Amino acid sequence: MSSALNSDIQFLSGVGPKRAALLKTELGIETFNDLLHIYPFRYIDRSRITPIAEVRGDLAYVQIQGTVVSSTLIGPGGSTAMAAGGPIPLRAAKRLSVIVDDGSGRMEMVFFKGIKWNYERLKPGNAFLFFGKPSEWSGRLNIVHPEIDAPLMGGAEAKGTLTGVYPSTEKLKNGGITGKVMCKLQSAALAVCLPDIKENLPDYVLKDNALVPLAYALRNIHFPADHYALEKAVRRLKFEELFFLQLSLLKQKYIHSRGSVGIPVTKVGAAFNSCFNTLPYELTGAQKRVIREIHNDMKSGHQMNRLLQGDVGSGKTMVAVLSALLAVDNGYQACIMAPTEVLAQQHFANISKYLVPTGVRCSLLTGSSTQKERREIHAGLEDGSIGIIVGTHALLEDNVVFRALGLAIIDEQHRFGVDQRAKLWSKGPGIPPHVLVMTATPIPRTLAMTLYGDLDVSVIDELPPGRKPVKTTMISDAKKGAVYNFMEKQIALGRQVFVVYPLIFESEKMDLNNLEMGYEEILRRFPDPAYKVAIVHGQQNADVKNFNMAAFVAGRAQILVSTTVIEVGVDVPNASVMVIESSQRFGLSQLHQLRGRVGRGAEESYCILVHDYKTSAEAKKRLELMCATNDGFEIAEEDMKMRGPGDLEGTQQSGLPIKLAIASLAKDGRMLNEARIYADKVLNADPKLESQANRLLAEELRKGKYNTKDYSKIS
Ligand code: ADP
Ligand code: MG
Repeated sequence: MSSALNSDIQFLSGVGPKRAALLKTELGIETFNDLLHIYPFRYIDRSRITPIAEVRGDLAYVQIQGTVVSSTLIGPGGSTAMAAGGPIPLRAAKRLSVIVDDGSGRMEMVFFKGIKWNYERLKPGNAFLFFGKPSEWSGRLNIVHPEIDAPLMGGAEAKGTLTGVYPSTEKLKNGGITGKVMCKLQSAALAVCLPDIKENLPDYVLKDNALVPLAYALRNIHFPADHYALEKAVRRLKFEELFFLQLSLLKQKYIHSRGSVGIPVTKVGAAFNSCFNTLPYELTGAQKRVIREIHNDMKSGHQMNRLLQGDVGSGKTMVAVLSALLAVDNGYQACIMAPTEVLAQQHFANISKYLVPTGVRCSLLTGSSTQKERREIHAGLEDGSIGIIVGTHALLEDNVVFRALGLAIIDEQHRFGVDQRAKLWSKGPGIPPHVLVMTATPIPRTLAMTLYGDLDVSVIDELPPGRKPVKTTMISDAKKGAVYNFMEKQIALGRQVFVVYPLIFESEKMDLNNLEMGYEEILRRFPDPAYKVAIVHGQQNADVKNFNMAAFVAGRAQILVSTTVIEVGVDVPNASVMVIESSQRFGLSQLHQLRGRVGRGAEESYCILVHDYKTSAEAKKRLELMCATNDGFEIAEEDMKMRGPGDLEGTQQSGLPIKLAIASLAKDGRMLNEARIYADKVLNADPKLESQANRLLAEELRKGKYNTKDYSKIS
């Protein structure tokens, strides 16, 4: 069926093949319809004219109406050249300076491009309407490259109250597609397409959610009749986007959870009970609840796909162990995969302790396992004598074959790629194993809902009792002496100290130099034999690294100088101070992860954010936030607001299931929730969207953009 909406963009009046190519590469626009779905990201209220006397350098956009007083060409040598040498020939001019007077004051308009054209039209004595962003330049206000219109005649209303500002690029502008041209194109597209725009939401959905029709929304998002119409248009388009996103994710989940066969992990047996009964502490309410959720999933007859979120130190390891034992009690094996060797070793050491009373055999498989160890492990996994295997990526190798893998646990999920997960899934006994993904990156709820809409999410929202928030301060590196004095006092109390340096790329020589210089400085301040200082970084070979790490874990070294290799998981309860050097270079989530390494014991603990004098205002804001709160979710929410969801640490690989054109995960959390609840309601009544009433919804979901790379397809 042909409709104007599907027409090739080059045939829109004002476009043509050249601009069409630009629109395609720069904004992905191929059809009229694509164009109509590029929305303004803000609007300028052009109904207001600002008197020059009220203009300030920090104002956003202003509109000024005034008369040209003078128009001066300025040469390469700047204004001095002009003063010395009279008028400059047009072609030699580098800049055009136009002074405008509106009765309240005077202001300069500056042009570096289009000099000739503007020189010829901005004749002194004539009035114009100028529009642009004021800036301050050596104490004087000006507007560089303002938009220029004919002046408004006496008493006339300013035209088009709200003007959309569209996303643009340098190439678009150079290709002649300026903001003004974009408005014209949208107007042309609307003119031919409006009769063809078909509603894609059923009537009942519009009514239930008080949404305006699509045609109305598209017209008013581009050319708002007024603020009120704009608000309605925005709400409709955002809701639509979030609703379809949730509908597509939840539909997969509905189908998946009804269709997939899961390994039956029903009984709670001897291994689980003997571990549970000998725990050195009482599980927190949250840990108990999460274990119940996991057990319910694993005995449901369907495959579990669960994301376990818990802030650092919330006790996820214990949940992993008990879940693994549930699998073992039912005749299956479990694997626990960690992102780094250090972490796998630590997991293995901890888990082995918990397993002593159970008699379950547990092994460790990493890149540095010897050939002999490997042979034994491979055999043990194949004959089923190994119940629980802890390891790194080495677990994914083809020659690792399980007798009956029932549960795969992945710690710190974001470090694994999609393909790697798929490999693990395929190691099940014909049926994919249950999957538990654990993450300490507190993903904001809105983002989790979007990224993992098809996953069930459990949250450990309670820390073990007795944990005190980590006291956090920021300090300039000029006051390093005070930091060392503080470290000395803590060490005298028997505590240990982490000192972390940023190492963005392990190969960056500069960073490593910083680390080594810092290490030497600390050695001078904390000399042997009174003090032992260990150092750990990615360039060391595994033996050295493990030796140094072990010295700190065992308390033989009081100070551990390291790069972020200790970021994830490492647990030294006696460490009470975390010093983060060049902390301005870390992201919020990373700072939070690092800080989570202390505050695990009962003592007061401290995090000291050392920053250098060059720290930007933005980085200072991050550090201040760290000082203000210990709540990982709050930090993650702020992080998302500051950086935008696509950029959030730990989520780059996952990517958003669809590209959002108007809704924002950072800002529209409430509407996302609303849309999800409503999508759930729709699917509950009609899981496959087969009813006549839902025909439009099914049609929309069949479109390519909702084909998400989700977990249910991987397993
Ligand atoms: P994370 O969620 O960061 O992986 P861990 O599982 O490493 O946290 O647990 C952090 C510390 O808390 C460990 O030392 C662990 O032994 C301890 N722990 C876990 N659960 C409890 C609990 N219910 N009560 C007291 N301590 C606990
Ligand atoms: Mg952990």
